[in-house]
Amino acid sequence: AEEVGGGDKEVVREYFNNSGFQRWKKIYGETDEVNRVQRDIRLGHSKTVENVMKMLTEEGSLNGVTVCDAGCGTGCLAIPLAKEGAVVSASDISAAMVAEAEKQAKEQLQVDNDSSSAAIVMPKFEVSDLESLNGKYDTVVCLDVLIHYPQSKADGMIAHLASLADKRLILSFAPKTFYYDLLKRIGELFPGPSKATRAYLHAEADVERALQKVGWRIRKRGLTTTQFYFARLVEAVPV
Ligand code: SAM
Repeated sequence: AEEVGGGDKEVVREYFNNSGFQRWKKIYGETDEVNRVQRDIRLGHSKTVENVMKMLTEEGSLNGVTVCDAGCGTGCLAIPLAKEGAVVSASDISAAMVAEAEKQAKEQLQVDNDSSSAAIVMPKFEVSDLESLNGKYDTVVCLDVLIHYPQSKADGMIAHLASLADKRLILSFAPKTFYYDLLKRIGELFPGPSKATRAYLHAEADVERALQKVGWRIRKRGLTTTQFYFARLVEAVPV
């Protein structure tokens, strides 16, 4: 398959509104209707979310901190962020994902009147591709979205996200290593009929260069690996 212009994005949108939505809603959910590979990816992804929460909270309380969650999926990160008091703007290219995230947030963040939950602000959800986002946030987070961007597009995407962030940008991506490259080629990551999107791997050096070009440096790094899930996590700050 060719990497063609904006075509990629339309394919991704269509996928995450349909079969991809069904597949990833299951993986990111809690029910038993997942196979072994999906269960492993669920575990890996939840570790990434945990690592992000750790990175963010070790710098201080999130109370009142504005966070843009770009490509929010079903809200796996937006919801725990809101629980910590962050003021979250969550968006995704897929309307189905946004609707699901909003539904889950309503279920999980019921604001009752006792004082312990007084700080919770319901995230603001929006259907938007991340190139169209604007505004300024203390923190911008974009988890497991770069996999849908070829490196030629990734630089612009990273530059745009950095332009929205005042203090820090957290990105996760599938690292381009020999083993992972091989796995991807074997096709284990996107098995079965829902293998409708391409997966792009990124060399950490390329991501770092894209950040440096716009005046940002990597301050913290993390790595999550399970059998079928690999994610490099970086936190960048302005130089
Ligand atoms: N960040 C979420 C998480 O970690 O739970 C979801 C990750 S999921 C693998 C990738 C998400 O990125 C999908 O929900 C998809 O719709 C979204 N996405 C892909 N390309 C996008 C784009 N250009 N702009 C915004 N969202 C995008």
